[in-house]
Amino acid sequence: MSGRFVVVGAGTMGLGIAYVAAGAGYAVELVEVDRSRAEAAAARLGELWDRAVARGKLDAGQAAANRERLTLRAALAQVAPEPDVVVEAVPERADLKRTVLGEAEALRPALLGSNTSSIPIAELAEGLARPERFLGLHFFNPVWAMALLEVVVGPATAPATTDAAVALAGRLGKDPVVVRDMPGFATSRLGVTLGLEAIRMVADGVAAPADIDKAMVLGYRHPVGPLELTDLVGLDVRLDIARTLQAAYGDRFAPPPLLVEMVAAGKLGRKSGQGFYTWTDGRKADGPATGEGASA
Ligand code: NAD
Repeated sequence: MSGRFVVVGAGTMGLGIAYVAAGAGYAVELVEVDRSRAEAAAARLGELWDRAVARGKLDAGQAAANRERLTLRAALAQVAPEPDVVVEAVPERADLKRTVLGEAEALRPALLGSNTSSIPIAELAEGLARPERFLGLHFFNPVWAMALLEVVVGPATAPATTDAAVALAGRLGKDPVVVRDMPGFATSRLGVTLGLEAIRMVADGVAAPADIDKAMVLGYRHPVGPLELTDLVGLDVRLDIARTLQAAYGDRFAPPPLLVEMVAAGKLGRKSGQGFYTWTDGRKADGPATGEGASA
């Protein structure tokens, strides 16, 4: 199978989406404006393919073919027109996403998606010339391990676009849910609620982070506790989502002061080496992180 798939933003999510799309046979262009981020993403993708070979999940020839299907770009202007799919995975800020989506739409993709965790699709579609081709394609972290694709249908999304997104999920090996366009959709609204309350519990001194997480893993069978999950997602990402949900639903989503302080201090979780846990080379200092089961 062929086709051209463009991903904008080579952060945590963008590189994961690019990895999965290359594995599904797409020629992938991964657009990243920050050169050091682009280099880090290329290195990480190399590690992922090497690891897949070492674990017997891909043979060396498949991994090499997937690698060859991926090209890094420094700007959307370097991408040829009329790709099959464009997915933006830039930071969770509506103004930035609208700018990127406007540039992406100028390429006339058949399907245009946003990986937003919480911003309404209607808000992101403002200013688009063809909002009927646009919808939310909310992947989960780590993209190669998480089966869910939340397909968020905006008020202007055409039924054929939703059908195309569901078909895309199948090609990428994902299991879709189709949801209505409300801030936080069906996933982040619940998941972030739990994460924010866990942070308030740390601030209240209810228990140590590891014990709050253990309580949810052993007591409620969650695959990973809410604080470790916050570290995996990124505290900055969760803070942005909390602010979006606060604006939509009120102060029940107000970010706890501890979260704001930690982000200001550069404690962003796994990606910075420090969050509710200490991380070295992507692993929790007191034991291997699952790295699975995260979302935003
Ligand atoms: P991130 O900060 O790790 O990565 C974003 C990347 O976008 C950065 O590398 C940045 O340099 C790049 N960027 C910024 N402006 C750009 C532009 N104009 N063109 C190209 N690249 C640009 O963020 P992330 O965690 O990957 O999150 C991205 C999106 O995915 C957000 O909307 C977030 O809410 C959503 N999301 C995150 C998770 C998660 O677990 N982290 C899960 C699901 C969805």
